Amino acid sequence: MDMMFTDADRAFRDEVRTFFAENLPPAIAEIVRRTPSYVPKEDMVAWQKKLYEQGWIAPGWPVEYGGTGWTPMQKFIYGEEYQIADAPRISSFGITMVGPVIYTFGTPEQKERYLTKILSSDEFWCQGYSEPGAGSDLASLQTRAVRDGDEYVVNGQKIWTSQAHRADMMFCLVRTNPNVKKQEGISFLLIDMKSPGLTVKPIITMDGGHYLNEVFFDDVRVPVENRIAEENKGWTYAKFLLGHERTGIAGVSKSKREVEKVKQIARIERSEGGALLDDDEFRNRLSRVEVDLMALEITNLRMMAAMAAGKPPGPESSTLKIRGTQIAQELNELLIEALGYYALPYGPSQVRPDANEPPVGPDYGVGLMSERLLRRAASIYGGSNEIQKNIIAKAILGL
Ligand SMILES: Cc1cc2nc3c(=O)[nH]c(=O)nc-3n(C[C@H](O)[C@H](O)[C@H](O)COP(=O)(O)OP(=O)(O)OC[C@H]3O[C@@H](n4cnc5c(N)ncnc54)[C@H](O)[C@@H]3O)c2cc1C
Repeated sequence: MDMMFTDADRAFRDEVRTFFAENLPPAIAEIVRRTPSYVPKEDMVAWQKKLYEQGWIAPGWPVEYGGTGWTPMQKFIYGEEYQIADAPRISSFGITMVGPVIYTFGTPEQKERYLTKILSSDEFWCQGYSEPGAGSDLASLQTRAVRDGDEYVVNGQKIWTSQAHRADMMFCLVRTNPNVKKQEGISFLLIDMKSPGLTVKPIITMDGGHYLNEVFFDDVRVPVENRIAEENKGWTYAKFLLGHERTGIAGVSKSKREVEKVKQIARIERSEGGALLDDDEFRNRLSRVEVDLMALEITNLRMMAAMAAGKPPGPESSTLKIRGTQIAQELNELLIEALGYYALPYGPSQVRPDANEPPVGPDYGVGLMSERLLRRAASIYGGSNEIQKNIIAKAILGL
């Protein structure tokens, strides 16, 4: 892959930057700067609709389904400008996860019914994979779906369901055959969150925010036409989806933005009479993270180029997930250290964009501790980093 920017790339960067400057409301960018994980749904929808109208909501999709047809370099530039603009993170469950499953394995009716509403953000999705007894060992899931005529009757429980309280639809793994090898008795269902018998209960995380939920199914009836492809073959579609989930999880552009934020704060904060950024030990640590991030960026670009050439994301995405989350967590820590004592007071402004209590300490510190606490989970969700190492050992190293 050619790593140099061409004149066309530079013109594309200008086009993207101009679009963000003209279309991203400053009030939404301000919320993203302060509480990036708690942007109100209406602001996310408003922003995602602008991207949809521009045709830029799903750069990873094939053009025939609404993708952009961009080169890997254009996608990379777009990702960078997206972060620089402080635009809200796209709700990934529809665009990045279930969308590719539906256009790859879905029936024409399913494509017709779901894809446009995913792109237009008229329907938000959540992911019903994990259960209290099935996280890393996902294939042990017990939520049961029993066929009754043209419907499945679903009973059981999901847990850690991000954003279920905001979702219209869930893609869900259920057990349709308990009498075979566990991977062979799973089906992939699309469930309406308004279905009678479905209950969502909040889980409050250690940052004090509401992001996660438990979801309970009590005789929830799901039409058979909501099943993706073959019954009992859900494991295949689930794994396909996880590959897509992990590619996005590298978060290179976001981490590059965080490096800039660390520098910005460390230029202002003091250490031993000088700027913190001039402190040898702090500089060394920051430089190490920056070098690691450059290496990750090149790896990410290589993988994007392979995908553009038609190679689906494979077990290599596990390497992106591990390094991406480690680097993001190191940066979260550096941000907190740079903030010093101001990181200690913790009020509602950390997780609530509408909080009217003024934050303690400088404005650039708002939300940093919340992000640090919430992002501790990045090395757990999407398959924990230990599990990613197992995948690398087996599928890449052949151990
Ligand atoms: C913030 C957050 C958001 C999430 N969002 C969603 C969501 O939207 N939808 C969803 O379905 N799930 C979601 N999850 C769940 C997530 O996918 C699981 O937490 C994850 O798969 C780990 O499962 P577990 O929590 O059951 O831990 P366990 O599987 O019980 O693991 C506990 C520990 O043991 C280690 N371990 C387990 N097995 C092995 C092994 N074979 N070798 C080495 N080490 C091992 C793990 O790495 C971990 O450190 C989310 C989780 C978090 C924290």
